[in-house]
Amino acid sequence: MTSPTDPAKPDHVEGSSASKPVEKSDDQWKASLTPQQYEVTRKKGTERPFTGKYWNCKTPGTYRCVCCGEPLFDSQSKFDSGCGWPSFSQPVSDGSVRTQKDDSHFMQRVEVICPHCGAHLGHVFDDGPGPTGLRYCINSASLRLEPAASPPPKKP
Ligand SMILES: [Zn+2]
Repeated sequence: MTSPTDPAKPDHVEGSSASKPVEKSDDQWKASLTPQQYEVTRKKGTERPFTGKYWNCKTPGTYRCVCCGEPLFDSQSKFDSGCGWPSFSQPVSDGSVRTQKDDSHFMQRVEVICPHCGAHLGHVFDDGPGPTGLRYCINSASLRLEPAASPPPKKP
């Protein structure tokens, strides 16, 4: 006769809190980010090449959104593009990043955005070397690397 659902709890919250979009005011973001992280992710800034934390990083792990912590890219899809920013051939899964057209700066580019909190991450180009042909060119300031707990199995 016991019911697993708690009748006192309203049922309008679906899914876990992790999949819920994050909405914060500008001031809240400012308070929780460094000035550079804020400039890049909330103001669509770009860090200078070869200055970021991760462009030359080879540590295995998961790159998460610096704003909301959602997993965005895996170190296994990271490659050395020589462009001075962390580059990935694909996001960690379908839908883990969102893309939209960016016609600013008199260029036609595709902007990469975190779908959970709207953070600007970087741009995606179609000159990648991998099977996807894509190069996700991402600011280090948008990312937080969570190192893998143990070394991943070696790929042949
Ligand atoms: Zn995010």
